[in-house]
Amino acid sequence: MPEIPDLEAIRGYLNERLPGETITKAECLIPIVFRVTKGEFVEKLEGATFGQTTRRGKFLLFGFEGGDVLVINAMLAGRFQYVEPSAKRRASTCMALGLSNGQELRYHDDRRMGKIYLVSEDRLLDVPQFAEMGPDALDVSREEFLERIGKYRGQIKNILINHKFLAGIGNAYSDEILFAARLHPYRKRSTMNDEDIERLHASITKVFDWATPIVAAQMRGDLNYKERRDFLKIHRKGGEPCPVCGTRISEITAGQRITNFCRNCQPES
Ligand SMILES: [Zn+2]
Repeated sequence: MPEIPDLEAIRGYLNERLPGETITKAECLIPIVFRVTKGEFVEKLEGATFGQTTRRGKFLLFGFEGGDVLVINAMLAGRFQYVEPSAKRRASTCMALGLSNGQELRYHDDRRMGKIYLVSEDRLLDVPQFAEMGPDALDVSREEFLERIGKYRGQIKNILINHKFLAGIGNAYSDEILFAARLHPYRKRSTMNDEDIERLHASITKVFDWATPIVAAQMRGDLNYKERRDFLKIHRKGGEPCPVCGTRISEITAGQRITNFCRNCQPES
């Protein structure tokens, strides 16, 4: 699942290429992922000129001159391609946008779980989750973080991945953030002091600022890059030595979710 570093890398790539380009042909190929009718999608996008692409949580927002916004939540398996129109299309290509520079922007989704919305910028709150989503994890001040987290009392990992608290943190990076903050993932927020919470807040930016350029380098000009998270320090490293103290990294699987931590660096209390 793409998380903030992946989406930030994609956003950076697109903002170097899309602004000022006009859509010459808009194709809705797998209607099930669209939350806009095919007719409206084609009518509004053909002839539209790209502005900036932004991000809110796990949503990418493609802005257009004139105020429409194409909002895409890639969910588990959605990926983008920026290719020559002659490049073979994958069977799971849901959307293809022909551009005035001769390239094509595509979205494909093997699981068809992603969602595509097209709304005017003053109607963004109509997109499901937008109204309830907390501030973006990269855009929350220390004061706001302290104030918001006070409303939650449960296990800190569950709080971090709750989009109502902060938008954009998923399973993999929550493990990395908690490792950087030296906090046990199952530690109750109510047992943490101000210093713990400030360290947690600082670790969010630290981890994302570290990971985003690594992911951007992996991408190497190919939007449809293979997501590799082997550079992470703790997530999916169960059984390996902790990079800080050498203790064997713990792994707990609950539901579909793997949680890794170092029981020495991240004590339970
Ligand atoms: Zn350790």
